[in-house]
Amino acid sequence: MLSWHEARERVIAIVRERMRAPRVERIPLGRALGRAIAQPVFADRDQPAFPRSIRDGYAIRSADTSSLPVEFEIIAEIKAGSAFDGEIGAFQAARIMTGAPVPAGADAVVMLEHVREISPTRIAVDRAIAPGLHVVGQGAEARAGAKLLDPGRRIGFGELALLAEIGCSPVRVFRRPRVAVLATGDEIVPLETQPGPFQIRDTNSVSLAAQIALSGASVASLGRAGDSVEALRAGIKAALRADAIVLSGGVSKGKYDLVEDVLKEFGVEFHFDSVAIRPGRPVVFGWCAGKPVFGLPGNPVSTMVTFELFVTPALDLLSGAEPRPLPLVSATLSVPLNEKPGLAHFLPARLDWMSSGPEARPVAWRGSGDVAGMAQANAFLVVPADRPVWRAGEAILALVRRDLL
Ligand code: AMP
Ligand code: MG
Repeated sequence: MLSWHEARERVIAIVRERMRAPRVERIPLGRALGRAIAQPVFADRDQPAFPRSIRDGYAIRSADTSSLPVEFEIIAEIKAGSAFDGEIGAFQAARIMTGAPVPAGADAVVMLEHVREISPTRIAVDRAIAPGLHVVGQGAEARAGAKLLDPGRRIGFGELALLAEIGCSPVRVFRRPRVAVLATGDEIVPLETQPGPFQIRDTNSVSLAAQIALSGASVASLGRAGDSVEALRAGIKAALRADAIVLSGGVSKGKYDLVEDVLKEFGVEFHFDSVAIRPGRPVVFGWCAGKPVFGLPGNPVSTMVTFELFVTPALDLLSGAEPRPLPLVSATLSVPLNEKPGLAHFLPARLDWMSSGPEARPVAWRGSGDVAGMAQANAFLVVPADRPVWRAGEAILALVRRDLL
């Protein structure tokens, strides 16, 4: 059986190798959060476009501070957005605001806190000022024409600021992949329906839609298919219109776990159908008609964990981006652990961010169907297959719930 690392690597390798290049669209910058950029991005002008003061203070010639104390005559005031077109001479200063252009002649800014005001037109400075102090030279951040971003970079708030700075709107981005979600199981009823005594509500369609949205893809929810070959056929046929398919349930070894059989009918090429993890062992990954197909186990916590490990990197690639790293942090265990060896365990856990770093303890739960237990958790402790026993106080990896990051 594959380890989860191997299975994840396999998903990434297969999707990277087989996927078609995602389509490109032009959208206003304000709607581009989370998209992968589909064009290289160049500086439209020098950044900054002028030598910029990064303090409120006085623009001076730094050489004038070679013998101290020294007095300066204030000859101008420069607000952000305007300029002084004269030149600063020896022992002259311009009052300057943060973001304003440093005038000709001056090569440094003494911050307001470091001058003594002698009169409305004179200041004194008691310290040596280095050339360039508190000045960002023209083009020091980026020269006009310099490449700032490569295609494939995901647009976060930092990238949005950069694209705004160079006026890049509309921006060319990769289209969001459409992901079909199909829940399987005769016992599952939609959210709006009052479940019968032995039925349960479809939680997976809801949580999967959330995980898909968090990954930046769009969801086509296909509802539920019952545990019959005919129902699954119809559901999977509809699902194959999307860019990726995520099924939940029906992938274990039970008599009514028919998903794999029906996927075979559609010619799915299987790359794995189990991974050495708990929860989530019977997880299926295949390729069909140019798209990835995932059969995730039906237990809600298994569905969530396997989505994070295996589906998220696939959706990243289909979105035109590189797979994002798993949100793993090292945490101090506050209780000992003793799990069964042979499978890697993902234990729902509570992480508390203490001043010394994160501390983790597993939450009480009744296995992978226990949604109430999982909702107490904000992370999963990663207990390796070959390291089942842990002492309190040891540092262990925790997979942080991406939705709570
Ligand atoms: P399965 O993988 O089909 O064997 O299902 C495993 C367990 O998960 C069973 O207890 C199912 O009732 C439950 N389950 C399957 N699909 C869902 C769903 N969409 N929402 C909530 N529970 C589910
Ligand atoms: Mg089932």
